[in-house]
Amino acid sequence: MISNFKKIKGFLKHTEGVALYENTKEVCIHGNAAEIGSYCGKSTCYIAQACKENNSLLYSIDHQRVSEEQQPGEEYFDHDLLNKKGNGIDTLPFFLKTLKDSQLEDFVIPVVSSSQEAYEELKMTFNMIFIDGGHSEEAAQNDYMLWSKKLNLEGVLAIHDVFPDPNDGGRPPYNIYQKALESGNFEEVEAIKSLRILQKKN
Ligand code: MG
Repeated sequence: MISNFKKIKGFLKHTEGVALYENTKEVCIHGNAAEIGSYCGKSTCYIAQACKENNSLLYSIDHQRVSEEQQPGEEYFDHDLLNKKGNGIDTLPFFLKTLKDSQLEDFVIPVVSSSQEAYEELKMTFNMIFIDGGHSEEAAQNDYMLWSKKLNLEGVLAIHDVFPDPNDGGRPPYNIYQKALESGNFEEVEAIKSLRILQKKN
């Protein structure tokens, strides 16, 4: 079933998706999940499939205008995502289609807003939070600072694009992963490619 998610447009590796699925399945039995940065909905499906099986929900937060590095002219730009009316990039139609095709619409609450606005508006806490939003130092630090506060004890914090070797990728996700470990509030559960799974202990 979740092997069908492999072909969805996105940067997440299948083995990373499986880890998101398995960890969500374990911790979201009585509690919901949130993800910061959904792009075209690949990670969303892995997490939401676990929510579906647990009858919980995934709040999927994304302004749907993609990150800095995916804008026209940048390294990760994808021409398919250009809005047909010339209004820049718009991933929302792709995201919604992914959910529909995967029959996961009933288990995902799409929140089309910035991370900051969503943080202020959503009053609940979560058992699983996946950070894969903006990759600038400011955006990553902000996501960690805000969303780690909304994670329940024993809940799981997943961070994508963590590269111990600077030659493999940018520093900000690695920096917040280090910050989480140094806080003493998290224990590392799993590391799969550039995905890190931490559990909140304090
Ligand atoms: Mg990523």
